[in-house]
Amino acid sequence: MLPFVETFWPVYLTALAMIIYIIVDKVRRRTHRKRIRRFDFPLKWIKILEQNVPLYMGMPYDLQEHCQNLVMQFIEDKLFEPCGGIEAVTEEMMVTIAGNAVIPILGRPTDVYRSVRTILIYPSTFFQKDKPEMGHRQGEAWASGTVILAWDATRGSARDMRDGKNVAIHEFAHQLDLEDGTANGAPILKNGNQYAVWAEVLGGEFERLVAATAKGQRTVMDDYGATNPAEFFAVASETFFEQARSMQRKHPELYKQLRNYYRIDPARWNRPAKISRKQ
Ligand SMILES: [Zn+2]
Repeated sequence: MLPFVETFWPVYLTALAMIIYIIVDKVRRRTHRKRIRRFDFPLKWIKILEQNVPLYMGMPYDLQEHCQNLVMQFIEDKLFEPCGGIEAVTEEMMVTIAGNAVIPILGRPTDVYRSVRTILIYPSTFFQKDKPEMGHRQGEAWASGTVILAWDATRGSARDMRDGKNVAIHEFAHQLDLEDGTANGAPILKNGNQYAVWAEVLGGEFERLVAATAKGQRTVMDDYGATNPAEFFAVASETFFEQARSMQRKHPELYKQLRNYYRIDPARWNRPAKISRKQ
């Protein structure tokens, strides 16, 4: 063997193993997607979307079809774990969570939150003994690939579009924000030259929300968005989808930035006729 090859063979082997892994992973994902497309979306699942995901009811037909496909990929790909006394994860839980979680990626080239592996479902708000300062939580998004959701808040906030809140969209917007490694309200943008405008528009809107919240003034966005820029992006994303027309009217520049980012225009979707506040 040549001395050069002898010295570096572990490097070659590692590189070869990485290449094989990438190829196998690509083939696996492609086969997986083809398999999903072969199955029709279950009627029972459509009923769940109709009942628990009013945003699905309002979107155009081609997006509904795309939504169904992403829901199937999401459910196939993620591990749903019951926590805090929930005995088993139901189809309603999986389809409702997936149906809302995929809304932010409907317009984007996507690998369906590849880094998210596990969804932990609690029956209601949860409390971490080691973090008492955080109080009772409806959801959390971890960089390690876990999302935690309180089932009652997830379903209730999705069903009620008037509140502008959607716990699943909020937590999955955090996951998009985390794609560059940090949750700071600046997700990965298409072009590097978009960051300056993003920072100017979202930074300005964040400051205005902080000022309005300090004065006790209500805005179209929940005051929780005034916590920090990461929470602002997550809250603004909830409002963007649930209160699209109000946001477009009252915060046109913010709406424009989010429309460019999500590559979708929910202000043009229909408002579903029936909106339920029931849990
Ligand atoms: Zn948050």
